[in-house]
Amino acid sequence: MRKSEHVVIKLNGGVEVEILKDFKHSSCKCGKRDIVWAITARNKKTMPIRKDSQKGWISHFEDCPLASKFRRRNQNGNDN
Ligand SMILES: [Zn+2]
Repeated sequence: MRKSEHVVIKLNGGVEVEILKDFKHSSCKCGKRDIVWAITARNKKTMPIRKDSQKGWISHFEDCPLASKFRRRNQNGNDN
């Protein structure tokens, strides 16, 4: 029997997220193919992240040219 295990990792900005231990890469509409879907530890929100060779894990919201398409309004001080 197989169960999916999560690991907590810290993004470059300090946000903690959970990813599957045996995560698979997905591709983003921007063309990047090394996207990993993560869940924020705090809000349980889904977000795309990727591993940058220099910065480590970063939010793909930060480097995606299409980020404005998935970024929702964020005027309440919530993180995203
Ligand atoms: Zn993208």
